[in-house]
Amino acid sequence: MIDFTFTEHDKKVLDAVRAEALVCRGYARHYDENEHEFPPDELPEAKDFPPTMSLFAGRGKDDTSLGVMSMMLAAAQSWGDYSVRMRRGKGGLGNAALRAAGTPEQQKQWGHLTLAMAITEPGCGSDPSRVQMTAVLDAATNEWVLNGEKIFVTTGCRADGVVVWATIDKAAGRAGIKSFLVEKGAPGFVVAHKEKKLGIRADDTAAYVFKDCRIPRGNLLGGNEEIPKESSGGFRGVMKTFNMTRPAVAAIGLGIAQAALDFTREQLQAAGVAIEYGPGAAGQSALAQRFLELEALYEAAMLTVLRAAWLSDAGKSNNLESSICKAKGGAAVREITQGCIELLGPMGASREHLLEKWFRDVRITDIYEGTGQIQRLIIARDILGYGRDELK
Ligand SMILES: Cc1cc2nc3c(=O)[nH]c(=O)nc-3n(C[C@H](O)[C@H](O)[C@H](O)COP(=O)(O)OP(=O)(O)OC[C@H]3O[C@@H](n4cnc5c(N)ncnc54)[C@H](O)[C@@H]3O)c2cc1C
Repeated sequence: MIDFTFTEHDKKVLDAVRAEALVCRGYARHYDENEHEFPPDELPEAKDFPPTMSLFAGRGKDDTSLGVMSMMLAAAQSWGDYSVRMRRGKGGLGNAALRAAGTPEQQKQWGHLTLAMAITEPGCGSDPSRVQMTAVLDAATNEWVLNGEKIFVTTGCRADGVVVWATIDKAAGRAGIKSFLVEKGAPGFVVAHKEKKLGIRADDTAAYVFKDCRIPRGNLLGGNEEIPKESSGGFRGVMKTFNMTRPAVAAIGLGIAQAALDFTREQLQAAGVAIEYGPGAAGQSALAQRFLELEALYEAAMLTVLRAAWLSDAGKSNNLESSICKAKGGAAVREITQGCIELLGPMGASREHLLEKWFRDVRITDIYEGTGQIQRLIIARDILGYGRDELK
């Protein structure tokens, strides 16, 4: 049975995370306006908060499952400020790829590093099978030689290394694409610049260049004794990563949307607009009606996220559900933040408040980890039973 009732212990964990998130919110405007700066790893006012993982220590068998709780934590953190909080966290998207596709030895060797994930290139985004970056094995030195460019790499500047996609055989299409772990400092690996963005500006997003970059042969994820065509380090192995990261991205967007709803509710109530849950929408003002609609949208989207996480916790496939919650979440957070701006008028657009920033920050959640359109393609293929080549 699906049950998303949070235990008292879980509620305390979430309250603690929200308290810390509020500290991050205090820095939100500064790093939004000073994009060239990096938030510190430790904020002075937040240093006494316990690490999030230690809050999990006392969890019992009746507490909410780990995946579901992780989604709630992601939402609680981004409710404060997504990018400032992210800077303080350890690990990146590449760590999830390492866990999904690395051998136990590789996970042991690199698991402690913060790893970015670089798939996107100037000519390759939604269709990752078009990766142009090449990896050629130099049998004489037993090294891979990487050549190519990657753009929009989240955590790209501060990461210790990156899981990068490159093709070992362009003619083989998807089967030729493999993922490699490249540590910072590898010869020929350069962080070219930090990207400038619409939102999540405190987030560090980098562009990379690999020019005759040499890495040991053992850095192919999944192991490469025989360089199998479908090793776990290949296309399919790393795509598995997205089944938990897509719900997490949706949860992050929803945490920001929740902040926008909280702010809007406060402002409406301060202006004398009553929002009541008893009488139903029809008996209320147009402002309250619209607000209730936006809240209902939030609840519906959050339930799709929790369901995707719950399926994963239960050891069931969540390929379809992770795309559903990403598509639903990405669209919902755009509507919610825009709707909140409409409800508050000029106050919603003013830089005196964070609402206009939240509106900009959520936009990315409908783009990275697969755009809304790509999620709809995946959903349609799954429901209608089409293959990748039949519906694209
Ligand atoms: C802030 C930020 C951080 C990012 N972080 C990372 C990262 O860490 N690692 C990484 O590898 N990438 C990252 N990305 C890249 C991101 O994943 C891509 O931008 C995204 O996958 C879309 O690719 P694209 O920008 O090339 O758009 P395109 O693929 O060129 O798509 C353009 C538009 O066409 C639509 N479209 C494309 N194909 C279809 C289709 N078949 N049917 C219908 N519509 C379609 C898309 O939905 C989109 O609206 C990041 C991007 C940003 C902005």
